[in-house]
Amino acid sequence: MSKIIAKAAIRGAHAMVKQAEENLNKAIEQKGKDALVQYPNTAYYLPIILLTLGQKVEKVGDLEDSLKEAKKLLADIPSDELWLPYLGDTLNAGIATLISEEIIESLKYTVGPDPVQGIWLGFTGDNILRMQGIKLVDGRMPGFAAIAGCTHTNEEAVRLVRGLQERSILVFMAGHTNGRAIAEQLAEEGIEMNWDTFLVPYGKEITAAIHALNFAARSAMTFGGIEPGNLKAAREILLYNKNRVYAFVMALGADTDVPDKEQLITDEKYATAAGAINFGFPVISDVNIPQILPTGICTYEHVISGIKLDEIISRAIELRGLTIKLEKIPIPVPYGAGFEGERVRKENMYVQFGGKYTDGFELLRMKPMNEVEDGKIEVIGPEVDEMKEGEAYPLGIVVEVAGRDFQEDFESVLERRIHEFISCANGIFHMGQRSIIWVRISKDAYNKGFKIKDFGEILLARMHDEFSRIVDRVQVKIYTDEAKLKKLVEEAKVVYSHRDDKIGNMTDEDVDIFYSCTLCQSYAPDHVCIVTPQRLGLCGAYTWLDCKASYQINKHGPNEPVEKGECIDPVKGQWKNINNYIEVKSNGNLKVFNAYSIMEDPMTSCGCFECIAAIVPEANGIMIVDRDFTGMTPIGIKFSTLAGQVGGGMQTPGFTGIGKLYISSPKFISAEGGQNRIVWMPKQLKEEVGERLKVLLEKMGNADLFDKIATEENAEDPEKLVEYLQEVGHPALEMDPLF
Ligand code: SF4
Ligand code: ZN
Repeated sequence: MSKIIAKAAIRGAHAMVKQAEENLNKAIEQKGKDALVQYPNTAYYLPIILLTLGQKVEKVGDLEDSLKEAKKLLADIPSDELWLPYLGDTLNAGIATLISEEIIESLKYTVGPDPVQGIWLGFTGDNILRMQGIKLVDGRMPGFAAIAGCTHTNEEAVRLVRGLQERSILVFMAGHTNGRAIAEQLAEEGIEMNWDTFLVPYGKEITAAIHALNFAARSAMTFGGIEPGNLKAAREILLYNKNRVYAFVMALGADTDVPDKEQLITDEKYATAAGAINFGFPVISDVNIPQILPTGICTYEHVISGIKLDEIISRAIELRGLTIKLEKIPIPVPYGAGFEGERVRKENMYVQFGGKYTDGFELLRMKPMNEVEDGKIEVIGPEVDEMKEGEAYPLGIVVEVAGRDFQEDFESVLERRIHEFISCANGIFHMGQRSIIWVRISKDAYNKGFKIKDFGEILLARMHDEFSRIVDRVQVKIYTDEAKLKKLVEEAKVVYSHRDDKIGNMTDEDVDIFYSCTLCQSYAPDHVCIVTPQRLGLCGAYTWLDCKASYQINKHGPNEPVEKGECIDPVKGQWKNINNYIEVKSNGNLKVFNAYSIMEDPMTSCGCFECIAAIVPEANGIMIVDRDFTGMTPIGIKFSTLAGQVGGGMQTPGFTGIGKLYISSPKFISAEGGQNRIVWMPKQLKEEVGERLKVLLEKMGNADLFDKIATEENAEDPEKLVEYLQEVGHPALEMDPLF
């Protein structure tokens, strides 16, 4: 343990506690002790305080207790004469710092200044956490970096974050060096920063770094099902982060205003770093701060420093043990999952395709071996350099694959990935699938030499890479010729509808095998999804066909075939072999599982559900709420709170996580009477699932049910809801009691 670090960190902690105390006193003076203090959209109160102290802070006055606990953790600042190389004091100082930073940042939501300003985003709500969580789970996002400070030049800043984006590492930014923050440098360079681009600027002050840690703390509570509230839990959460959340802190640039010249960065930064080390997150720096090399708390070293900026990413990856798959695709723009959600705005667009402007489609087909010449790319029609800036052109992407083990059923599974594959190119925007695609090439990408042909390069590389077990040959034909395209779109539409009929008509009774998904076990160790043709995984990302293809690709992957065996209850959806399988895979936690029931032994939930279905006792029905809806539900609980109670791999009768597609399945909680039980959905969700749901209700001879389902516009509490349901004559009121 370096003496300088310990001293600076403990001194920094004292200063941070003092600042928290001042801010708290001011807040009490201005707003009183009973004023509410809360972050937006979370069920975890102030997550760091909840985690470390088990305290559920709701009011400004509650923070007095938090502060008292933080003070207890402060040791005296070590003097040079009396030096005890004891790591514990520094780690405790780190926790005291985090608690103080949480006080400082949360109070901003009560007394201001508003932390959400300009480029700064402030606290991350639970809804985003869940959406990003699945990426951490399935490895699309290998970990995160928390950057404090800035680089010498803007160009270096851009190069650094592009490197992180290419490796799909999520980047949190908080804190500055001598008044300059990397997020400000990126903003000056016009880099898009938000959750979609994996670049998240929290705040200019180092205290905002707390949001990176309360993100980590909540992933443990959300996906790990760990209950906070005592020291043992706090330790578990820290271990969970150390073992599963691959994160590191990057401290960039030397601060000039420091008490001891050798320390190079501020006391507050050391104190915050000491807090991060408690989570097992090591620190890496481009300046020569003292190193802490012996391993112990972190998997590897605690602090390494003096690393050249060009090497800092690879050193950080080694340090934290991240598994990175770097895509090597021969195209002239950077490529990686960090670019997937990036948009190309009209001002930055060179040309566009599809959308409401022109015809566009994409189609993946299986062909006999001899009809596919591997690696061939054809552009039929004008290339991008023959196109006029600002114009819209037609685009048809046809991918043809051949493989000994390829089955026609897999076509749609691979085709659905085209969106993700193309989106990952920097400067390319892609939306939709099938015949409703919309694609833009940015001026920047065009200037770097990006061509239509490069869509082919991307697809060749990624299809081979991801599906090497079932795909032997790939060729791509890209049409920009209007006359040819017209005919091809029509042909493609025939293929789409043929597929839909085939899959749409497949029932759970048609198959002997269901698939399991245990992908989320890396976060929720007891959770298992059983995926059937009529009930997809609760994250919405895995249908029965997806699982089948995934098993074909990797026999030892997260999806296994499970033979149903003897049917114990056809109405509730219970099978002997499935029960046995679940018991083993849930580590003995589950014995019985009903696929179609919400009341009795329902499916467990990990944390990344698209929606939650929950009973509304007063209405004798159920409501469905999705994670994008942040308003109040008629059971008086918001999605974020509800999600905290349902997740973690436990069975919770009356509540279940579901994928959106399941809402329009004939097997939707059929044990309790199916869609007739649906009494409430947010308007936006109702619209989104509307088309499919209406088709199903029509088939069931129940077409008028759709309009009877209430939304937040009709009711936000149970009384209003029941009133509304009576008015429209909703069938749930007349059904057997749910209990
Ligand atoms: Fe997780 Fe289930 Fe989705 Fe698999 S299907 S990724 S286990 S939620
Ligand atoms: Zn999950």
